[in-house]
Amino acid sequence: MTAIPFPAPPADSAEVVALRAEFRTFLDEQLKDRTPRQRSDNWYGYDRGFSRAMGQAGYLGMTWPKQYGGHERSAFERAVIVEECLAAGAPVGAHWIADRQSGPSILKFGTEAQKQAFLPRIAAGELSFGIGMSEPDSGSDLAATRTKAVKDGDVYRVTGTKVWTSFAHEADYVILFCRTSGTPADRHMGTSQLLIDLKNTPGLTIKPIIDLAGQHHFNEMHFEDAVVPADMLLGEEGQGWDQVMSELAFERSGPERFLSSIELMVQLIEVLKGRDSDAAQITVGRVTARLAVLRRLSRSVAGMLQEHQNANLQAAIVKDVGALFEQALPDIARELIDAEPDPRAAGAYASVLANIVHNSPSWSLRGGTREILRGIIARGLGTR
Ligand SMILES: Cc1cc2nc3c(=O)[nH]c(=O)nc-3n(C[C@H](O)[C@H](O)[C@H](O)COP(=O)(O)OP(=O)(O)OC[C@H]3O[C@@H](n4cnc5c(N)ncnc54)[C@H](O)[C@@H]3O)c2cc1C
Repeated sequence: MTAIPFPAPPADSAEVVALRAEFRTFLDEQLKDRTPRQRSDNWYGYDRGFSRAMGQAGYLGMTWPKQYGGHERSAFERAVIVEECLAAGAPVGAHWIADRQSGPSILKFGTEAQKQAFLPRIAAGELSFGIGMSEPDSGSDLAATRTKAVKDGDVYRVTGTKVWTSFAHEADYVILFCRTSGTPADRHMGTSQLLIDLKNTPGLTIKPIIDLAGQHHFNEMHFEDAVVPADMLLGEEGQGWDQVMSELAFERSGPERFLSSIELMVQLIEVLKGRDSDAAQITVGRVTARLAVLRRLSRSVAGMLQEHQNANLQAAIVKDVGALFEQALPDIARELIDAEPDPRAAGAYASVLANIVHNSPSWSLRGGTREILRGIIARGLGTR
């Protein structure tokens, strides 16, 4: 079995310390009216105004070249911004996917025209993206994708169904993973990525899916001979699999993988304040220690990305261990405090608990299920 290195993350430079302080002031002002229940929405909160404010203040496209609207800062500095946003419960949904994975994919694989058309608008917080990967029979098994794009002169004609597409009803674009030649039996071969204009693609219908919490953030996307300009091909035709794997590496590597229930921890400590209970103190101490270890691991991943090292395996571990932590918190809270989760409660604790109880089952599915991540980890350990 191989030991997996988690190198010591770089110490906070003076710039990082200053950036964190400056950004906290920005968030305090932006989020002053946000309730605990709203803060517990984590990255589901969707607010174009907040995303534009982030863009105007220079907090999006942090690592990208200045010529494309970026700020040429380090991956570690970007991780500080992401961490602070999640810890404060900022409504990041309108820029989250574009800043994290669609923009970096366009920077890596896009044409010069695509970079100029998309990246400055993403960095300004004006352009919102979704992820068009999963299908009814192709979730974990992404290579079985059936959605087909056939080249017809200067357009592609797209037919197929995508499912679980977060924010497709709100966003401007998705990057669609599809088949441009062959059949699903060809697996990784013959797949490509297309940039789809969600507001202006004839033949595309978007239908809502309501989740367990009664909220609408998922959708189904139906393409029926939908017409997409050929210059919206991202990267090379037939190279979609390698490109989509690179996109998933961006998706899996951030601190969002252990901070989803942080508002519950904040509210739990608030309720426990002033209670003279050894059991409560021990439990809160243990939870805090687990959080500190996860944060250390996640900062190690950010440091590796800054050094342009491959951190896919380490990111899979942080996501798996992080999801266990996030999902354990509601039960830990319920053992300490005798209060029922209640979505309509006036008090912060019960409404936050209800939101976390409803949403937490999905945290070990999104971005790759627990079993799939453990397969990646087993291969990395040399046991599979
Ligand atoms: C909150 C949330 C947001 C999402 N947003 C998006 C989005 O914006 N865009 C998008 O494209 N998708 C999105 N998804 C979909 C997500 O990527 C898929 O749900 C996920 O990849 C699993 O696919 P599936 O649902 O088809 O389950 P399946 O792949 O059918 O898996 C069902 C079960 O079988 C297990 N399993 C499957 N294969 C194996 C295997 N080889 N070995 C062991 N066990 C296995 C899985 O672990 C799981 O427990 C989102 C999902 C969630 C929960």
